[in-house]
Amino acid sequence: MTTEQTLPICIAGQWRLGRGERYASYYPATGEAVAWLNAASLEDVEETVLGAHQAFLHSGWAQRKPHERAGVLYRIAQLIREQSEELAQLQRQDNGKPIGETRNLVASAAGTFQFFAAACETLEETITPSRGDFVTMSVYEPMGVVAAITPWNSPIASEAQKVAPALAAGNAVVIKPAEITPLLALQLARICEEAGLPKGMISVLPGKGSVLGDALTQHPLVKRVSFTGGTRTGKHIAHIAADKMMPVSLELGGKSPTIVLDDADLDHAVAGVLYGIFSSSGEACIAGSRLFVARSLYEPFMQRLCAAAATIRVGNPEDETTQMGPLISAAHRESVERYVALGLSEGGRLRLGGERLRGGDYDKGFFFPPTVFEGLSNDRQVCQEEIFGPVLVAMPFDDETDLVKQANDSIYALAAGIWSRDYKRAWTLGRKIQAGTVWINTYKQFSISTPFGGWRDSGLGREKGRLGILQYMEQKSLYWGMNEQPLAWASEHREVAP
Ligand code: NDP
Repeated sequence: MTTEQTLPICIAGQWRLGRGERYASYYPATGEAVAWLNAASLEDVEETVLGAHQAFLHSGWAQRKPHERAGVLYRIAQLIREQSEELAQLQRQDNGKPIGETRNLVASAAGTFQFFAAACETLEETITPSRGDFVTMSVYEPMGVVAAITPWNSPIASEAQKVAPALAAGNAVVIKPAEITPLLALQLARICEEAGLPKGMISVLPGKGSVLGDALTQHPLVKRVSFTGGTRTGKHIAHIAADKMMPVSLELGGKSPTIVLDDADLDHAVAGVLYGIFSSSGEACIAGSRLFVARSLYEPFMQRLCAAAATIRVGNPEDETTQMGPLISAAHRESVERYVALGLSEGGRLRLGGERLRGGDYDKGFFFPPTVFEGLSNDRQVCQEEIFGPVLVAMPFDDETDLVKQANDSIYALAAGIWSRDYKRAWTLGRKIQAGTVWINTYKQFSISTPFGGWRDSGLGREKGRLGILQYMEQKSLYWGMNEQPLAWASEHREVAP
């Protein structure tokens, strides 16, 4: 990819330059521009939504038989697999994740299209028990134009999770990718068109969310928004949606507890806790950022954990052996550093890390090491606010009643992890933890067939799962009259009429 070229964007099937400001996508490992493009303008938003609406009405996509739409989705999955290395490298450049991780995300995106193709062609509508002389059915219809607003941390995976079910359901989709990671959405749109999706059924509007995302959300022809991002933005979108009476799904932030009980398999627990917080450099909504360890094994566990964390290979995302890449931007690294300073000011002790990495290639990018705090109680700000970086706060606990109280004491309730050899104990605890997802003796593992979402400030609605497709459809009840005589009331009315 050359840095000279200005990339076109996808306005309802027309590939042309955006009419907004020219800007670059930067490689977080070096700070160098990897691509230039013009952001979409508000006029582009208008043109896109009108064009997407026309495509929804006239392209015939919504009217295709489910197995025909599924055929296109299967081809999208196949094309993603054929282009997997190119896509993985593109995502590495766009957001700086290690290449091994971006390969997994690309594979997951292909799997998502395959899954929703299957969900589409096997979706059943029901004949419901009738209570009269009529047959009753419950069926589903597409909604129209759907907006998919995504964050920068796992673009292709979060975009696939929204685009695949929305298209499967028969809608037109407009993606508003994070301003700083626009490249995967653009390539995904090309793949969709190459696979046979009619022009206009997918669009991509790169640029500022506070301008474009807002305009999209407010647009009367946008019938649903599927959003992944920060809680503050999510609440703003929910307010707009309330005024429009528009359904939304909101996948928001987290401050997830991971819990190590005194009977845990320590090899598994150390590996799981490490992966849960430090993979993706902690830039994950489900990062297990609050660690609760049974006091009886707190010290030996922490020694093992910190020794293992110190060996995590932080560095060049191109290197196959790298485990943690840079943070997304200089500004985000500064935000993580502010949280470390806050943790210290709140009385925390740094057990590992805490200062940006320096020297050699580290000076070019936005690297930050695995960082472990202790000596803080759960009510401290660093335990309550999402840092979205590789910062873990470890806390010992004494009894399980208090543990449950602390684990649930958060505005967030996205995920949790429990490590115990006793499955009955883990089960009982798992049912008491308030979270959209609870992992037992594993962490940050996903299956597209299992619904995902948060409680409280972690969000509304669920993505994934076979029924995820229904989030992008309106339900309709059909009544088929089977009576031989006119409706009784009407007949009586006729009898008394002159
Ligand atoms: P933001 O909420 O800032 O941004 C997310 C998306 O929303 C971006 O595309 C952004 O555009 C756009 N946006 C910003 N303002 C508006 C607006 N007023 N109206 C509509 N769209 C808008 O989050 P971050 O990019 O900082 O992402 C990190 C957050 O995402 C974290 O809090 C994390 O927990 C959460 N997240 C949640 C996940 C989940 O599944 N629960 C998964 C991954 C992340 P722009 O980039 O231009 O600002």
